[in-house]
Amino acid sequence: MFKELNPPSRVLMGPGPSDVHPRVLKAMATPLVGHLDPSFLQIMNETMELMRTVFETKNELTLAMSGTGSSGMETVFVNLIEPGDKVIIGINGLFGERMVDVAERCGAEVIRVEAPWGEIIKPEQIEQALKNHANVKAVAVVHAETSTGALQPLSEISQLAHAHDALLIVDAVTSLGGVKVGIDENEVDACYSGTQKCLSAPPGLSPVTFSKRAGEAMARRTSKVQSWYLDLSMIQNYWGQERFYHHTAPISMNYALREALRLVVEEGLTETWDRHWKLGRALQSGLEAMGLTLHVVADHRLPQLTSVCIPDGVEDMIVRKQLLEQFGIEIGGGLGALKGKVWRVGLMGYSCQPRNVLLFLAALEQVLL
Ligand code: PLP
Repeated sequence: MFKELNPPSRVLMGPGPSDVHPRVLKAMATPLVGHLDPSFLQIMNETMELMRTVFETKNELTLAMSGTGSSGMETVFVNLIEPGDKVIIGINGLFGERMVDVAERCGAEVIRVEAPWGEIIKPEQIEQALKNHANVKAVAVVHAETSTGALQPLSEISQLAHAHDALLIVDAVTSLGGVKVGIDENEVDACYSGTQKCLSAPPGLSPVTFSKRAGEAMARRTSKVQSWYLDLSMIQNYWGQERFYHHTAPISMNYALREALRLVVEEGLTETWDRHWKLGRALQSGLEAMGLTLHVVADHRLPQLTSVCIPDGVEDMIVRKQLLEQFGIEIGGGLGALKGKVWRVGLMGYSCQPRNVLLFLAALEQVLL
């Protein structure tokens, strides 16, 4: 007989998942009600309201997809894109590339706008692509590129997209709850996030939000959404007034999301972002003081995810193994173009605490000695 589950104690300072807040864990241990129970419907309503607050939007169509961040990505593309639609996608890391894959599976004609991994997509690049291609349906960018640690500014790209009658799609999986996303202020038309990064909950749900303009684009579809599970026209009826059964909502994960959002609202949005900025900058200054180089230039650096260049002669895996085994700290390695070149250090949500900054800097110094 296997023993009772007893995973090791870890400090999750990688690119996600981050440490789950104890109050979220407690909420998850709350007894289940049925997914059509009036009390659960009330919980869904409250969660939608909390999501709107954290996304900073009045969008009616704001709900949590049952699945991880990638399910939010697929939801956005399968519902907005029909075969033959043109989509401009900014690619400066792994998740931009994943959007291309998803969009192409929807039959989109993808127009690639690329920047080296670690840099941002410049508005001029998007402007040029919009000038070169008529009738672009959407422009998509990754707000916080977790594979590199770059923060993509949104407002100019939003203005350009709208000036050309295109929708703006934003990946906020790593940004929501860590830095300002500002859905209404930045006029973002479709956005998806995840629970396991700056929201301090386990992976399992993807909060999504759609503007009126995006809703109108979905209403104009001439073909059926190819994914039954992610078809918002049906899912809206479950989260909306009708409450038609669509699939069995993951109850405990919805409890978790509600509590996670409550924690953000309780701390205050500005205060949450300030904590990430302050501690992110402290970690980055500490790393530079140790003589290490950061991969992203200061102006475009995320506070919640820092990529550190691995010094010459240092073995990536040996360092990560020692951090895990001797200090219980998990950090991430590089992906794609940055494989073996950087470490990715997360300070997201509940993991973003002063004691973790100090613990990590001390542990890394010890390991690199
Ligand atoms: N987009 C970004 C920016 C991410 O960081 C991730 C996950 O790390 C995803 C999308 C995909 O999310 P998930 O792994 O939860 O499916």
